[in-house]
Amino acid sequence: MDLGIAGRQALVTAASRGLGLAIARRLYEEGADVAICARHSAPLEQAASQLRQWGRQAGRDESARVIPVVADVSRAADVRYLLDQVQQAMGAVDILVANAGGPPPGAFESITEEQWWAGLQQNLLSTIRLCRGVVEGMKERRWGRLVALTSIGAKRPLPDLMVSNTARAGVLGFMKSLAREVGPYGVTANVVCPGYTLTERLQELAAAREKAGLGSREETFRLWEQNIPLGRLGRPEELADVVAFLASERASYVTGTVLQVDGGWVESLY
Ligand code: NAD
Repeated sequence: MDLGIAGRQALVTAASRGLGLAIARRLYEEGADVAICARHSAPLEQAASQLRQWGRQAGRDESARVIPVVADVSRAADVRYLLDQVQQAMGAVDILVANAGGPPPGAFESITEEQWWAGLQQNLLSTIRLCRGVVEGMKERRWGRLVALTSIGAKRPLPDLMVSNTARAGVLGFMKSLAREVGPYGVTANVVCPGYTLTERLQELAAAREKAGLGSREETFRLWEQNIPLGRLGRPEELADVVAFLASERASYVTGTVLQVDGGWVESLY
């Protein structure tokens, strides 16, 4: 299936590794120009080189653009800077994939005011600010794709991840509301909820559990897999394929949805 996004301009945030990088790769291989951001320059530049190499392997020519911009999406000023840089280097954004790192774990009584604020900035306000920065242009051009990445915790709150559960549920409310407002202009707004997907982050979580004496990495992976009907962790490319579809021409009649890519982990009907 041709996704119909050749020549489109995509911005994928938090994309020096993991799910963001896998999504950027998929969009780039499909013919979009891609801007990526992360907080630190070295890994971001490395990701950009890697993307260009994947692109060449997929037949992209030298005119194809990968634009890396150092920015922390939890800061309003960085989001403004990011959008300015992308506009200058690439032009208007047609496809936004709003992603960020996850907030630290913690139960209610241990979470400080500052941690609540930091989590909401990173995992809710970042999405709102990014959308604010691109929606007007999308409406004018009568085409746009907004995809917010959250977590299965937005559908079934995860233990010990109260800040994440709360911020991500907020993204669902925001994107659903936005879908109604931008729909008449040919702009779609959807949410994707990743389940347990084998990125560096998940490897680090398993290593941290091992260090804390909570079982070997293998035991931790088995524990996670036990509750997944498909019986295994997801691969970043599997998540990226779904996001790329929602970001494509082919998903022109899909908006206001929340789609989990979790091997069946979320047990509710809706
Ligand atoms: P990861 O740690 O492997 O990658 C995160 C990326 O985001 C890195 O490139 C990092 O540099 C960048 N980043 C982090 N905070 C940032 C910020 N404030 N501004 C800009 N860049 C930032 O993580 P991942 O596994 O790819 O997860 C991505 C998101 O999906 C996270 O929010 C995570 O909580 C969520 N998620 C992941 C899984 C999973 O199993 N991997 C499951 C559910 C939800």
